[in-house]
Amino acid sequence: MKKKILIVANWKMNPPTSSEAEKLFAGVKKLDAVICPPFCYLDAKIWSSGAKFTLGAQNCHWEEKGAYTGEISPKMLKSMGVKYVIIGHSERRAHFKETDEMINKKLKAALKFGLIPILCIGEKKDKDAEIVVDKQLKEDLNGIIEKDVKKIVIAYEPVWAIGTGNFCDSQKAKKALRWIQEKTSNKVLYGGSVNSKISTDYTKVGFDGLLVGGASLNAEEFIKIVKNAQH
Ligand code: PEP
Repeated sequence: MKKKILIVANWKMNPPTSSEAEKLFAGVKKLDAVICPPFCYLDAKIWSSGAKFTLGAQNCHWEEKGAYTGEISPKMLKSMGVKYVIIGHSERRAHFKETDEMINKKLKAALKFGLIPILCIGEKKDKDAEIVVDKQLKEDLNGIIEKDVKKIVIAYEPVWAIGTGNFCDSQKAKKALRWIQEKTSNKVLYGGSVNSKISTDYTKVGFDGLLVGGASLNAEEFIKIVKNAQH
């Protein structure tokens, strides 16, 4: 049986208005994919009619509720119909100083409230890849019981490849995939400057899907990525 390929769109802090978000939702609504828009566009009114995609979020806090101004809890996401949540994206690690300890707490909280975490790991410089991936996996998954670890989707995203157009060659990415597979039996996605011309290279070397940033903001291009990967 052909394995199911998981394609996830990370819109990051885009598009800048709700009317543009509505248009983008309309363009991708027939896709079998996970769409992770900014929190403010999770409201069903702007996307729900006839949508086939699954909804994801780009982050969450580790507490259920409380005095954490500006934060969103996993319980809130669950109540909005969200199924997946990206945790530990390199932009959050870099700009918001998220540590592996915080990421570990977020993973535990997301799992507790029934969300599927998409854990992002990856190195800043390619020579450090194996050491960084190993350390992040150890610290991020620390204390999570095996049954729950299995539910986590791992996204291998070399930091130097994100948003740069400088994607990681699929053979090089395959090595990181092997290191991850030596340690876990989880689904593993590749992310980093994916476009429709190279998207199938990663699924061909064994990745279970893709995490797509910039290219997911163009409905036509994203449709091509999803169709290519799933056919
Ligand atoms: C991402 O945001 O996770 C990502 C991979 O971005 P891009 O595709 O733009 O490199």
